[in-house]
Amino acid sequence: MPADYHTHTPLCRHAEGEPEAYVDAALLAGITEYGISDHAPMLPEPFDEWRMRDAEMPEYCRWIERARVRAGGRLAIRVGLECDWLPGCEPWIEQLAARHEWDYLIGSVHYLGDAGVGPWDFDNPKWLGRWATLDLAALWGEYWTAYAAMAESGLFDILAHPDLVKKFGHRPAGELERYYEPVIAAVAASGCVIELNTAGWHKPCAECYPAPRFLELACAAGIPLVLSSDAHEPGHLGRDFPQAVAVARAAGYRETVLFNQGQRRSEPLPVMQPE
Ligand code: ZN
Ligand code: FE
Ligand code: FE
Ligand code: ZN
Repeated sequence: MPADYHTHTPLCRHAEGEPEAYVDAALLAGITEYGISDHAPMLPEPFDEWRMRDAEMPEYCRWIERARVRAGGRLAIRVGLECDWLPGCEPWIEQLAARHEWDYLIGSVHYLGDAGVGPWDFDNPKWLGRWATLDLAALWGEYWTAYAAMAESGLFDILAHPDLVKKFGHRPAGELERYYEPVIAAVAASGCVIELNTAGWHKPCAECYPAPRFLELACAAGIPLVLSSDAHEPGHLGRDFPQAVAVARAAGYRETVLFNQGQRRSEPLPVMQPE
Protein backbone atom coordinates (compact mmCIF):
# COMPACT_ATOMS: atom_id res chain seq x y z
CA MET A 1 0.00 0.00 0.00
CA PRO A 2 1.14 3.59 -0.59
CA ALA A 3 2.57 5.75 2.19
CA ASP A 4 0.20 7.25 4.78
CA TYR A 5 1.47 10.73 5.66
CA HIS A 6 -1.46 12.32 7.47
CA THR A 7 -1.67 10.80 10.95
CA HIS A 8 -1.90 12.05 14.52
CA THR A 9 -0.54 11.45 18.02
CA PRO A 10 -2.11 11.85 21.49
CA LEU A 11 -0.37 15.22 21.85
CA CYS A 12 -3.26 16.79 19.93
CA ARG A 13 -5.62 15.77 22.76
CA HIS A 14 -8.09 13.89 20.54
CA ALA A 15 -6.02 10.95 19.30
CA GLU A 16 -4.87 7.86 21.11
CA GLY A 17 -2.14 5.23 20.95
CA GLU A 18 1.55 4.81 21.69
CA PRO A 19 4.12 5.20 18.92
CA GLU A 20 4.93 1.48 19.13
CA ALA A 21 1.27 0.62 18.47
CA TYR A 22 1.19 2.93 15.42
CA VAL A 23 4.32 1.34 13.98
CA ASP A 24 2.94 -2.17 14.55
CA ALA A 25 -0.33 -1.15 12.90
CA ALA A 26 1.51 0.43 9.96
CA LEU A 27 3.42 -2.82 9.39
CA LEU A 28 0.18 -4.77 9.60
CA ALA A 29 -1.55 -2.44 7.13
CA GLY A 30 1.39 -2.83 4.75
CA ILE A 31 1.87 0.88 4.05
CA THR A 32 5.27 1.63 2.53
CA GLU A 33 5.98 4.67 4.73
CA TYR A 34 4.43 5.98 7.95
CA GLY A 35 4.30 9.77 8.17
CA ILE A 36 3.51 11.52 11.47
CA SER A 37 1.85 14.93 11.08
CA ASP A 38 0.14 16.06 14.23
CA HIS A 39 -1.86 19.30 14.61
CA ALA A 40 0.74 22.06 14.91
CA PRO A 41 0.73 24.63 17.72
CA MET A 42 -0.96 27.96 17.04
CA LEU A 43 -0.63 31.26 18.83
CA PRO A 44 -1.92 32.80 21.01
CA GLU A 45 -2.26 29.83 23.34
CA PRO A 46 -4.48 28.16 24.19
CA PHE A 47 -5.67 28.52 20.61
CA ASP A 48 -8.14 25.65 20.84
CA GLU A 49 -8.44 22.24 22.48
CA TRP A 50 -7.33 20.02 19.62
CA ARG A 51 -3.61 20.57 19.05
CA MET A 52 -0.26 20.29 20.79
CA ARG A 53 1.06 23.28 22.67
CA ASP A 54 4.23 25.01 21.53
CA ALA A 55 6.02 23.76 24.66
CA GLU A 56 5.14 20.19 23.66
CA MET A 57 7.17 20.23 20.45
CA PRO A 58 10.16 18.52 22.12
CA GLU A 59 7.81 15.81 23.35
CA TYR A 60 6.51 15.42 19.79
CA CYS A 61 10.10 14.86 18.64
CA ARG A 62 10.59 12.24 21.36
CA TRP A 63 7.37 10.51 20.29
CA ILE A 64 8.70 10.38 16.72
CA GLU A 65 12.02 9.02 17.98
CA ARG A 66 10.20 6.17 19.75
CA ALA A 67 8.43 5.34 16.51
CA ARG A 68 11.78 5.24 14.67
CA VAL A 69 13.23 2.91 17.30
CA ARG A 70 10.25 0.55 17.03
CA ALA A 71 10.39 0.58 13.24
CA GLY A 72 14.11 -0.19 13.11
CA GLY A 73 14.91 -0.90 9.47
CA ARG A 74 11.45 -2.30 8.79
CA LEU A 75 9.52 0.83 7.87
CA ALA A 76 10.42 4.37 6.80
CA ILE A 77 9.18 6.99 9.27
CA ARG A 78 8.55 10.48 7.88
CA VAL A 79 7.69 13.55 9.90
CA GLY A 80 5.72 16.69 9.37
CA LEU A 81 2.99 18.83 10.87
CA GLU A 82 -0.63 19.50 9.95
CA CYS A 83 -0.71 23.31 9.99
CA ASP A 84 -3.80 25.49 10.06
CA TRP A 85 -4.23 28.10 7.39
CA LEU A 86 -5.61 31.35 8.82
CA PRO A 87 -5.17 34.87 7.50
CA GLY A 88 -1.84 36.27 8.69
CA CYS A 89 -0.44 32.89 9.76
CA GLU A 90 2.48 32.97 7.32
CA PRO A 91 5.27 34.13 9.68
CA TRP A 92 4.25 31.54 12.25
CA ILE A 93 4.22 28.70 9.69
CA GLU A 94 7.68 29.80 8.54
CA GLN A 95 8.87 29.62 12.15
CA LEU A 96 7.41 26.13 12.57
CA ALA A 97 9.01 25.02 9.30
CA ALA A 98 12.43 25.97 10.65
CA ARG A 99 12.03 24.06 13.93
CA HIS A 100 12.88 20.59 12.69
CA GLU A 101 13.97 18.69 9.60
CA TRP A 102 10.44 17.99 8.44
CA ASP A 103 9.90 15.73 5.48
CA TYR A 104 6.81 17.74 4.52
CA LEU A 105 4.26 20.22 5.88
CA ILE A 106 0.53 19.71 5.44
CA GLY A 107 -1.78 22.70 5.14
CA SER A 108 -5.42 22.51 6.24
CA VAL A 109 -8.36 24.87 6.25
CA HIS A 110 -10.29 24.07 9.45
CA TYR A 111 -11.07 27.70 10.32
CA LEU A 112 -13.19 30.23 8.49
CA GLY A 113 -13.54 33.89 9.25
CA ASP A 114 -16.67 35.78 9.93
CA ALA A 115 -20.17 34.69 10.94
CA GLY A 116 -19.73 37.72 13.19
CA VAL A 117 -17.91 35.64 15.76
CA GLY A 118 -14.31 35.57 14.55
CA PRO A 119 -12.59 32.41 13.33
CA TRP A 120 -14.60 29.22 13.89
CA ASP A 121 -13.45 25.65 13.31
CA PHE A 122 -16.31 24.64 11.05
CA ASP A 123 -15.47 20.90 11.16
CA ASN A 124 -15.85 20.81 14.95
CA PRO A 125 -19.03 18.98 15.98
CA LYS A 126 -19.58 21.60 18.70
CA TRP A 127 -20.81 24.00 15.96
CA LEU A 128 -23.26 21.55 14.38
CA GLY A 129 -26.24 23.69 15.37
CA ARG A 130 -24.87 26.66 13.48
CA TRP A 131 -25.07 25.05 10.04
CA ALA A 132 -28.84 25.44 9.78
CA THR A 133 -28.47 29.22 9.90
CA LEU A 134 -25.70 29.50 7.29
CA ASP A 135 -25.76 30.56 3.66
CA LEU A 136 -24.13 27.43 2.25
CA ALA A 137 -23.20 28.96 -1.09
CA ALA A 138 -21.44 31.85 0.65
CA LEU A 139 -19.71 29.53 3.10
CA TRP A 140 -18.47 27.26 0.32
CA GLY A 141 -17.21 30.32 -1.54
CA GLU A 142 -15.35 31.46 1.55
CA TYR A 143 -13.89 28.00 2.14
CA TRP A 144 -12.54 27.56 -1.38
CA THR A 145 -11.15 31.08 -1.48
CA ALA A 146 -9.19 30.28 1.68
CA TYR A 147 -8.07 26.95 0.22
CA ALA A 148 -6.73 28.62 -2.94
CA ALA A 149 -4.92 31.24 -0.84
CA MET A 150 -3.36 28.44 1.21
CA ALA A 151 -2.07 26.80 -2.00
CA GLU A 152 -0.74 30.11 -3.29
CA SER A 153 1.14 30.78 -0.05
CA GLY A 154 3.77 28.22 -1.10
CA LEU A 155 4.21 27.20 2.56
CA PHE A 156 2.95 23.64 2.27
CA ASP A 157 3.91 20.46 0.46
CA ILE A 158 0.58 18.68 0.85
CA LEU A 159 -2.89 20.25 0.99
CA ALA A 160 -5.22 18.28 3.26
CA HIS A 161 -8.79 17.02 2.82
CA PRO A 162 -9.72 19.34 -0.09
CA ASP A 163 -13.49 19.47 0.43
CA LEU A 164 -13.60 19.15 4.23
CA VAL A 165 -16.37 21.77 4.20
CA LYS A 166 -18.79 18.95 3.22
CA LYS A 167 -17.94 16.96 6.39
CA PHE A 168 -21.42 17.07 7.91
CA GLY A 169 -23.11 16.54 4.55
CA HIS A 170 -23.98 20.19 3.83
CA ARG A 171 -23.49 20.89 0.14
CA PRO A 172 -24.89 23.82 -1.84
CA ALA A 173 -27.43 23.04 -4.56
CA GLY A 174 -26.34 22.51 -8.14
CA GLU A 175 -23.11 21.50 -9.82
CA LEU A 176 -20.09 21.77 -7.54
CA GLU A 177 -17.60 22.24 -10.40
CA ARG A 178 -18.06 25.98 -10.07
CA TYR A 179 -16.26 25.74 -6.74
CA TYR A 180 -13.74 23.14 -7.85
CA GLU A 181 -12.45 24.74 -11.06
CA PRO A 182 -10.84 27.94 -9.72
CA VAL A 183 -9.22 26.20 -6.76
CA ILE A 184 -7.89 23.40 -8.95
CA ALA A 185 -6.28 26.01 -11.20
CA ALA A 186 -4.68 27.65 -8.15
CA VAL A 187 -3.44 24.34 -6.72
CA ALA A 188 -2.05 23.23 -10.09
CA ALA A 189 -0.16 26.53 -10.45
CA SER A 190 1.21 26.20 -6.91
CA GLY A 191 2.79 22.79 -7.50
CA CYS A 192 1.31 21.46 -4.25
CA VAL A 193 0.27 17.83 -3.78
CA ILE A 194 -3.28 17.07 -2.64
CA GLU A 195 -4.42 14.11 -0.58
CA LEU A 196 -7.19 11.61 -1.00
CA ASN A 197 -8.21 11.44 2.66
CA THR A 198 -10.21 8.33 3.53
CA ALA A 199 -11.63 9.68 6.83
CA GLY A 200 -14.55 11.28 4.96
CA TRP A 201 -16.02 7.83 4.34
CA HIS A 202 -16.58 7.61 8.10
CA LYS A 203 -18.18 11.03 8.53
CA PRO A 204 -21.78 12.15 7.83
CA CYS A 205 -20.79 13.17 4.26
CA ALA A 206 -19.98 9.46 3.64
CA GLU A 207 -17.53 10.31 0.86
CA CYS A 208 -13.75 10.53 0.69
CA TYR A 209 -12.14 13.98 0.63
CA PRO A 210 -12.12 15.20 -2.09
CA ALA A 211 -15.18 14.03 -4.06
CA PRO A 212 -14.39 11.75 -7.04
CA ARG A 213 -15.31 14.53 -9.50
CA PHE A 214 -12.80 16.88 -7.86
CA LEU A 215 -10.13 14.18 -8.14
CA GLU A 216 -10.87 13.69 -11.83
CA LEU A 217 -10.43 17.41 -12.50
CA ALA A 218 -7.32 17.55 -10.31
CA CYS A 219 -5.75 14.64 -12.17
CA ALA A 220 -6.52 16.26 -15.53
CA ALA A 221 -4.86 19.45 -14.24
CA GLY A 222 -1.70 17.51 -13.34
CA ILE A 223 -1.97 17.86 -9.54
CA PRO A 224 -0.03 15.07 -7.77
CA LEU A 225 -1.74 12.91 -5.16
CA VAL A 226 -0.99 11.13 -1.90
CA LEU A 227 -3.36 8.85 0.00
CA SER A 228 -3.97 9.42 3.69
CA SER A 229 -6.05 8.02 6.51
CA ASP A 230 -5.91 11.00 8.92
CA ALA A 231 -5.59 8.30 11.59
CA HIS A 232 -6.28 9.37 15.17
CA GLU A 233 -5.76 5.81 16.46
CA PRO A 234 -3.36 3.05 15.39
CA GLY A 235 -6.04 0.84 13.83
CA HIS A 236 -6.90 3.56 11.33
CA LEU A 237 -3.49 3.66 9.62
CA GLY A 238 -3.93 2.85 5.95
CA ARG A 239 -7.68 2.57 6.49
CA ASP A 240 -9.62 2.01 3.23
CA PHE A 241 -6.48 2.27 1.12
CA PRO A 242 -7.58 -0.45 -1.34
CA GLN A 243 -10.80 1.50 -1.96
CA ALA A 244 -8.81 4.76 -2.16
CA VAL A 245 -6.47 3.27 -4.76
CA ALA A 246 -9.51 2.24 -6.80
CA VAL A 247 -11.03 5.74 -6.57
CA ALA A 248 -7.72 7.38 -7.49
CA ARG A 249 -7.30 5.06 -10.46
CA ALA A 250 -10.85 5.70 -11.63
CA ALA A 251 -10.08 9.44 -11.53
CA GLY A 252 -7.08 8.82 -13.79
CA TYR A 253 -4.21 8.65 -11.28
CA ARG A 254 -1.47 6.07 -11.85
CA GLU A 255 1.06 7.23 -9.30
CA THR A 256 1.45 8.75 -5.88
CA VAL A 257 4.17 10.86 -4.25
CA LEU A 258 6.82 10.03 -1.64
CA PHE A 259 8.47 12.72 0.49
CA ASN A 260 11.89 12.65 2.08
CA GLN A 261 13.26 15.90 3.60
CA GLY A 262 11.14 17.96 1.25
CA GLN A 263 12.31 15.99 -1.79
CA ARG A 264 9.63 14.29 -3.83
CA ARG A 265 9.59 11.21 -5.96
CA SER A 266 6.72 9.29 -7.42
CA GLU A 267 5.83 5.64 -7.13
CA PRO A 268 3.19 3.72 -9.06
CA LEU A 269 -0.18 3.13 -7.44
CA PRO A 270 -0.63 -0.57 -6.78
CA VAL A 271 -2.89 -2.59 -9.02
CA MET A 272 -5.57 -3.96 -6.72
CA GLN A 273 -6.50 -7.59 -7.25
CA PRO A 274 -10.24 -8.21 -7.04
CA GLU A 275 -11.01 -10.23 -3.92
ZN1 ZN B 1 -7.39 15.82 14.45
FE1 FE C 1 -7.51 18.24 9.39
FE1 FE D 1 -5.53 15.47 10.57
ZN1 ZN E 1 -6.78 16.41 9.16
